[in-house]
Amino acid sequence: MNDSIGTRALLRQLEIKPSKGLGQNFLVDTSVPPKILAAAELKKEDAVIEIGPGVGILTRLLLQTATKFTAVELDQRLYPFLRELLSPYPGAKLVEGDVLDFQPEALEPTAYKLIANIPYYITSAILRHFLESAHRPQQIVLMVQKEVAQRIVAKPPEMSLLAVSVQFYGKPKLFAVVPAGAFYPPPKVDSAILTIKVYPDAERPCRVTDEARLFEIVRAGFGQKRKQLANSLATGLHLDKEIIREVLAVGHIAAERRAETLSLVEWEQLYNALDGLAISTKAG
Ligand code: SAM
Repeated sequence: MNDSIGTRALLRQLEIKPSKGLGQNFLVDTSVPPKILAAAELKKEDAVIEIGPGVGILTRLLLQTATKFTAVELDQRLYPFLRELLSPYPGAKLVEGDVLDFQPEALEPTAYKLIANIPYYITSAILRHFLESAHRPQQIVLMVQKEVAQRIVAKPPEMSLLAVSVQFYGKPKLFAVVPAGAFYPPPKVDSAILTIKVYPDAERPCRVTDEARLFEIVRAGFGQKRKQLANSLATGLHLDKEIIREVLAVGHIAAERRAETLSLVEWEQLYNALDGLAISTKAG
């Protein structure tokens, strides 16, 4: 392993002990940031947001390419160091606070890429925060737990609420596995670089007008683990099981199927069938 730019030395110098609570597993293997950069297909004109720059092992590389750069860091102990690191770059900005309070809508209305080795304790929250925002990134490249990356890129019959929630907005890919030894302190499990190419709205595989309603249905479907759809939907949507059976028939989905087996297109069929039911109930 190569730690020549000295993540450990920097931490010692700043008298910073990695905080478990802040999900601080700092990258020490210098062969990893170039892989993240390659995964992001970063170009000079790209605007970049980095979550949790830490002591800057990835930041330094991003700043060599991106001219518009925003880093969001929660750990106050790092602020003086990061302010100095960013100061030679006129297009770089440090946002001091929690990324979940950061409003992507407040950014310039231009395309941007979200690139980060994130604190794993808020992986799903970060994905939701950026994917559900009105100003989504065009591309996301994140270091996540390997197992989480595998769950996100899964296909039927291994889908989950997380996989549907991500694949609704973009095309995820497990770009590379990163061993625990690439970090200090090493996490308990291996990690992976996950890329998500976010679809322009008109190109989504699942097109619905009411996203909140779609996710209400998807959540209901996954509400009871490994249960048949007719049961989980009836319970989760508070509808009679016979009605749900009819809806599933209209949507061309067998009532015995489990939520894990449904594709995005089939969730759309189910959404439309339930929408049709709502319309006929209103009309009747
Ligand atoms: N990017 C650095 C690296 O690769 O070595 C650090 C990665 S470390 C896994 C996660 C970073 O996110 C830490 O710097 C931590 O302080 C920061 N962090 C933790 N929770 C955060 C939050 N809610 N908002 C912004 N940054 C956060």
